[in-house]
Amino acid sequence: MSKTIFQKIIDREIPSEILYEDEFCIVIKDIAPKAPVHLLVIPKKLITKLSESSEEDTKLLGHLLKIVREMAKEHGIEEAFNVIINNGEKAGQTVFHLHIHILGGDKVKLSSELITD
Ligand code: 5GP
Repeated sequence: MSKTIFQKIIDREIPSEILYEDEFCIVIKDIAPKAPVHLLVIPKKLITKLSESSEEDTKLLGHLLKIVREMAKEHGIEEAFNVIINNGEKAGQTVFHLHIHILGGDKVKLSSELITD
């Protein structure tokens, strides 16, 4: 299986500004931001999509949400932000390496508006 774009970023094969990194994940800015702050939290482990995660990933998934919380705080959007995981092509997933979108900033939207975008 060829590497996903996110795997290439994790492996430093494609340059990208990595805002945060630990043993389990990285955080980058989305290349096509849909909000003033649009970050992606990406696990280093290749899980193609949330529905493909397993029981053994439970701790990792919790860790990713912890990083979401910390990143929202660090970027000053902790009062209002959206967290999105697109699962499957029909739901708009384009990169098949699990990632969590964090969207926020002064033009923060209602989640219902994001869904109809
Ligand atoms: P999805 O549609 O799969 O939920 O989200 C994929 C996201 O990855 C999109 O918002 C897209 O803009 C972003 N993206 C795709 N390729 C790159 C890239 O090379 N670098 C960065 N930083 N973001 C990317």
